[in-house]
Amino acid sequence: MVTTPVAPAAAQTKYEPVIGLEVHVQLLTKTKIFCGCSTQFGNPPNTNVCPVCLGLPGALPVLNRQAVEYAVLAAMALNCEIRENSIFARKNYFYPDLPKGYQISQYDKPIAEHGYIEINAGGGRKRIGITRLHMEEDAGKSLHDGLPDSNDWTSIDLNRSGTPLIEIVSEPDIASPDEAWEYLTRLKEIILYTGVSDCNMEEGSLRCDANISVRPVGQQKLGTKTEIKNVNSFRFIRQALEYEIDRHIQVLRSGETITQETRLYNAGEGRTYGMRSKEQAHDYRYFPEPDLLPLVVDEAWRQQIAAKLPELPEAKRKRLVERYGITEADAATLTRTQAMADQFEEAALAAKNPKRVANLVQAELLGRLKANNLEIEQSPISMKGVAISADLVESGAISGKILKDLYVLAFERNEDFPAIYEKEKPQQITDTSAIEKMIDEVISANPKQLEQYRAGKKTVAGFFVGQIMKASKGQANPALVNELLTKKLDG
Ligand SMILES: [Zn+2]
Repeated sequence: MVTTPVAPAAAQTKYEPVIGLEVHVQLLTKTKIFCGCSTQFGNPPNTNVCPVCLGLPGALPVLNRQAVEYAVLAAMALNCEIRENSIFARKNYFYPDLPKGYQISQYDKPIAEHGYIEINAGGGRKRIGITRLHMEEDAGKSLHDGLPDSNDWTSIDLNRSGTPLIEIVSEPDIASPDEAWEYLTRLKEIILYTGVSDCNMEEGSLRCDANISVRPVGQQKLGTKTEIKNVNSFRFIRQALEYEIDRHIQVLRSGETITQETRLYNAGEGRTYGMRSKEQAHDYRYFPEPDLLPLVVDEAWRQQIAAKLPELPEAKRKRLVERYGITEADAATLTRTQAMADQFEEAALAAKNPKRVANLVQAELLGRLKANNLEIEQSPISMKGVAISADLVESGAISGKILKDLYVLAFERNEDFPAIYEKEKPQQITDTSAIEKMIDEVISANPKQLEQYRAGKKTVAGFFVGQIMKASKGQANPALVNELLTKKLDG
């Protein structure tokens, strides 16, 4: 903690953070980027290896075509320009889990550049630039604990060595920890829609480093930056950035300077620690990889890949709002995964009132799925079932209360809605005189509301319907209640 007395002028200076993010995404290819070894996660240590990914002398890399297609697909989804000729380069550094002594990456000619992601920020939309997207191989893994002799040794597992990655580097356009969180959320969503990665953070398929500096508001020149490495959740990245911004401001206010360095975030303590001084690009002595030809992605190949680009989340939300009359908030929830969006759309097309389907999915289905720890693909109630149930409520054949009860049963018995409905079809009160009797009782018990209604406040009818449905324990036929009530009130 800095305790140097604060100079009054500096204390009044307002500071703003400048944030850039580097995200590594593991591509879902079956084999590694430069050899035929499996990329399967969780196999016994050092079983998915060969001379190439072990870095043995003389072994030659062969580029995986599928990895290139996935990288280009991701780049297109992120609005990047695809470079026709890109170059693989050696990034030289020593690390125990990097047996070659260099990593094959891309440097001054990456496969894609100049993209962007749109995020919600400050009540509007903001574009965060993507400087570059390049391909590279992953290193192995040092295991410091979990093995019987971990107290004495660090072990190396090279299964991950040579796994294909893309690194997505943003412009320093991000102005707050919240914007960083939003950027990462949108980025992950887009990558998931393209299907090129599972973005599983626990298994390391998506990793994020954050660069952060702070400068006085109004100053053009960027402040000295620090880098926060390998934070394993978006929430922790937001917390680490918040901590780091405060730390920078305190250091600057005390009249000291920020050291350019790499820092680690300790989530338990909620603070960052200096790890090592930050390398500069020239420290890596990049040079073109002599064992690989320049990568050529020509127009024909680009077009083939572009044809595989799915409808992306932003476009899908816009279309669902326009086509089905649902709100933007509905669309945001219903497009959280591609599977959910597809399922919603299937039901919306089958049902009479898509808006009701949207409400049902959110109010009755998603919460129950979450409570039962189920994905939408595992829902006992199919989207066809949701559509049928929505139509039953729409036509007044069942009330909202009965629908709720039937959904509870469907989850309890793990059966779809139509089956439950057939068996448990509610005994509806459709006897006109019985319903009229209930209506009379409710009206005479609520003279004030009746007066309001007759004075022109027609919305009070909803209050009466609610009371009548309650009196009938949810069993009165809602359509009939509406019809008879209107007659009574207006008659
Ligand atoms: Zn291999």
